[in-house]
Amino acid sequence: MTVLRDICIYCKKEMGKEDGDGVEGDTGSICEECWEKRFPGVPYPVEEERRSQVSSKSTDTRISLGQLVFTRGVNDKVADNTQFAQFVTESLRRHAKGDWGDLCQEDKQENEFSLKEGFRLLSAYERNGLPKIWIITEADRSATTILFPDEY
Ligand SMILES: [Zn+2]
Repeated sequence: MTVLRDICIYCKKEMGKEDGDGVEGDTGSICEECWEKRFPGVPYPVEEERRSQVSSKSTDTRISLGQLVFTRGVNDKVADNTQFAQFVTESLRRHAKGDWGDLCQEDKQENEFSLKEGFRLLSAYERNGLPKIWIITEADRSATTILFPDEY
């Protein structure tokens, strides 16, 4: 069995472990304490898996994200827009589960291939009224960067 550790991107606290199903390393999001410190009054994002796991349990993908990097632009936006912060956190969870977001079918297939072969992964997420973000995990899974497309 391989182990995936769930690490808080801010305080590096381990929030949990799970069976990585062949994948080993660190995956991440924001712990509840850091969330409350940074975004007081904003409800902690609810785990999306409760909804999606029922239907997609058999194809549950897990990706080791490595070190998490926010570009300056994304970091600034997260700090001053709580809705955006929530969107980033949820997108990160989706990416870590192999939900590539708003990509065309061709790009999604490319990711599925990259996942098997150990190449770079790129997801794109959009939400009404918020700027589009990209999430890129390096081929060696040493780092995952969250960026705006124009920062690429
Ligand atoms: Zn934390």
